[in-house]
Amino acid sequence: MMRLVFGGRILPIRSDVFIATIAAVASCVAILFELPPALASPVPPERGFAQKRRVRVRLMDAVSEFRVRGLDLKVSNSIARKNLKADLTSEWVFKCVRGAVHAQQLAGVGKQNRSFILGAQAEVRTPAGFLLINGRPYREEIRLYAGRRGCEVVNHLDLEKYLDGLVNAEFSARWSEEAIAAQVVAARTYAIYQMNHYRKRHYDVESDVTDQVYGGSAIEDFRASRVVAKSQGLILTTGSPRNFKPLKAFYHSTCGGATELPQKVWGKPHPGFQTGVQCKFCQSSPKFRWQVTLGSPDVVRAFIRGMKSRTMPKTWPKDALRWIEKGKLIGLAADRVNASGRVEQVSSLWTLGDKALRLSLPGSRFRSWLGTTQIQSAAFRAVAVQGTRDLKWLFEGRGYGHGVGMCQWGAKVMGEKGFSMAQILKHYYPGAVLRKVW
Ligand SMILES: [Zn+2]
Repeated sequence: MMRLVFGGRILPIRSDVFIATIAAVASCVAILFELPPALASPVPPERGFAQKRRVRVRLMDAVSEFRVRGLDLKVSNSIARKNLKADLTSEWVFKCVRGAVHAQQLAGVGKQNRSFILGAQAEVRTPAGFLLINGRPYREEIRLYAGRRGCEVVNHLDLEKYLDGLVNAEFSARWSEEAIAAQVVAARTYAIYQMNHYRKRHYDVESDVTDQVYGGSAIEDFRASRVVAKSQGLILTTGSPRNFKPLKAFYHSTCGGATELPQKVWGKPHPGFQTGVQCKFCQSSPKFRWQVTLGSPDVVRAFIRGMKSRTMPKTWPKDALRWIEKGKLIGLAADRVNASGRVEQVSSLWTLGDKALRLSLPGSRFRSWLGTTQIQSAAFRAVAVQGTRDLKWLFEGRGYGHGVGMCQWGAKVMGEKGFSMAQILKHYYPGAVLRKVW
């Protein structure tokens, strides 16, 4: 997922003030804002969904050491559920060594620190609702899993509260409320899809661009919470009214004019995505057009890295690596461009001695080999430019991201133009039905 930064980040505030503010806001939200009649779906809350309100967000992996501070912290072994006795306000240092969580309570000046070994899993909870991890506030509780390379740290919290913190991380609370609501519904749907599909893992979503960017509760604000509350429980679904499922509600920064189908990017279709859509709303995005120049050695290094990561196409000859390492790149061209304007196949032309070899690569793989922050979308063309020593390649393209599902910049502009949340979602997810599950 892409992050849009608008420069409007809300500064962290003291956690005790924050808790009081959130409590006050939550009570006001409940009284002042109700679902608009058009969105008060006749579908009753589905059985099973109400139990799925807790999401597991992986905050860190393979971390060697971190600190947790909070009020009345309950530190326990996850299996025996035996709480360690701690002071009312306490600070802990956690380490994972040889498959076990080690906890040390910092006792303060002049006192003796206390150390415990908790086993392979541990949890930290607080009745206060918030705890600080390395100084940053998070909600509810964390679970720790000791691995060979360090600790895996997973935040368990209410899905709606997770969305409060997501608004200013993945997009911005400064957007129009309808655009924020559309984005919140997509993010809620994406999280529920992950919760349904990854039960055997310790977590449902990563806290970085792999899934959805989440930095804790410090950047929650009143406007974000209000929109999340207004859209509570609304998700995008596919299937019949009696048997529906959340779709994997992909979204991306800027589509550049048309959205893409999942099978064109990841090789397999996803229910609810039957067609890409035209988008005339993201032309003002700073990423609508982009260009980047890479030297031939950069491209060659990227090809070698890609081949060594075992993603070489099966159709390539066995000695392809020798051609790339010893030969010369003399051509790069889009072989096949699909209906959304994205390159499906890139061909590269190599010479070695007096021989030549053409190697073709799917556009999405070319993009991931070269780096998705360099080749910002699969809608591009490459032009050879003679540099002082080597050939250089000028890439010119449109859009930013994989292009599947909602175009975030387009949604933002649709909101500014007066489109409703439901209209924005219908535009970018034409095969989905909006349902309220809690
Ligand atoms: Zn767009």
